[in-house]
Amino acid sequence: MTKEMTCIVCPNGCLMRVEQNGDDIQVFDALCKRGLEFAKNELINPTRSITSTVATAFPDYPLLSVKTDGELPKDKIFQAMELINKIVVKDRIKVGDVILSDVFGTNIVATSDMTLNAGEKRVDN
Ligand code: SF4
Repeated sequence: MTKEMTCIVCPNGCLMRVEQNGDDIQVFDALCKRGLEFAKNELINPTRSITSTVATAFPDYPLLSVKTDGELPKDKIFQAMELINKIVVKDRIKVGDVILSDVFGTNIVATSDMTLNAGEKRVDN
């Protein structure tokens, strides 16, 4: 089987030709070896990280940016987003605080800080 695949590991976005013959996977047109690892993961166990926002109970800060602190199986993204969309944060959250733990093997963490005053918002991606 031969297919084209775009590596998303870095901004180069190499468009790779991937040839799979059973367990033998060969990658062409990748600029580095990470392309091979990406292609193998995509074929065997594709994973992704998520960035999103969650609702809060605070009118002055109605949305809090969040992300996963790792990757989860690609086929669980929709279910993970359903869980994220149900969250309403009721405490003032800091960057890195866990909003929801063990979401398909990863945690949802804050990437912005609700404890800072307006104008001094720190965002951590
Ligand atoms: S193959 Fe290497 S250089 Fe190309 S997008 Fe992937 S990580 Fe970046």
